[in-house]
Amino acid sequence: MHILVTGGAGYIGSHAVKLFLERGLDVWVYDSLVYGHRAAVPADRLIVGDLNEINRIDQLLPEKRIDAVVHFAAFTYVGESVTNPAKYYQNNLVNTLNLMECLRRHKVARFVFSSTAATYGMPDQMPITEGTPQKPINPYGASKLAVEHALADYANAYQWGFAALRYFNASGAHASGAIGEDHTPETHLIPLVIQAAMGQRPHIEIFGTDYPTPDGTCVRDYIHVDDLAAAHLLALEKLQPGQHLHYNLGIGRGYSVREVIAAVESVTGKKVPIKEGPRRAGDPPVLVASSDKIQQDLGWKPRYTDIKAIVETAWNWHRTHPRGYKDK
Ligand code: UDP
Repeated sequence: MHILVTGGAGYIGSHAVKLFLERGLDVWVYDSLVYGHRAAVPADRLIVGDLNEINRIDQLLPEKRIDAVVHFAAFTYVGESVTNPAKYYQNNLVNTLNLMECLRRHKVARFVFSSTAATYGMPDQMPITEGTPQKPINPYGASKLAVEHALADYANAYQWGFAALRYFNASGAHASGAIGEDHTPETHLIPLVIQAAMGQRPHIEIFGTDYPTPDGTCVRDYIHVDDLAAAHLLALEKLQPGQHLHYNLGIGRGYSVREVIAAVESVTGKKVPIKEGPRRAGDPPVLVASSDKIQQDLGWKPRYTDIKAIVETAWNWHRTHPRGYKDK
């Protein structure tokens, strides 16, 4: 298989690329390096380009004999999507539609798409299944859902096979310690707590302590990035023309913000200074996935189901790369 991986130098993309290469696939990474990292992927597999440079992708597809696309490239800051929706609709939706048209011109009809739990919004039923109504509450989630709809229509009309993988909270770092999470700005809980443990931040602020949860803090389903990568590979191998696949990717159990902090303290042996703050707008109290469908259909199984095991891999990365990819 000759695969184009857009956004392959990003956090989740780079872990998928590493796995695909280990499995002998012919992988080409297309990444603008706006958020991705040059050092996260092999230099001879990286093509630096923006998703809006459709002419370049038009040339690449036949040149590299691409027969499937794994599309990670997207902007993912929920808060920014609320204040600057144009940026999100333009990149996550318009540029993706242009990419899809480019693929159609070149008869590339296999597509694995990075979707998100944010397409569900604030569901009242837990765990979330693929049948839970999708009602996003921010432009980020809406832009991803719009692409899911377009893909379904392309699958019906043009016999595309596609998988929309709805990630819950991606976390951890590659088991080898060679690649990991490095966002600027960093907004995700686990790296922020680790940075607070390392003294790089004065404290971790807990966004809300009055939620209707056992300890009052939000509960999320943290899934290891290597388990996410494995799901992409299975989906790629499975896709048939005309096939619609929609899968949630989580571990099926939630951990509270306080439990994550406790796990970081236990793994690092360091005390994490905390500050209790107000709720963050748009945060549901609990988000937990049912991933039964992908387990049954594709035989996927998360290897990491314990928060401490996930945090250990993240700690291994941050400990050895205190400034992220600058230390590579
Ligand atoms: N969170 C927090 N303090 C922070 C960052 C995150 O309390 O500095 C909480 C946030 O409210 C959410 C959970 O940690 O309940 C996970 O947040 P993250 O931004 O990592 O992922 P999200 O669930 O928003 O996709």
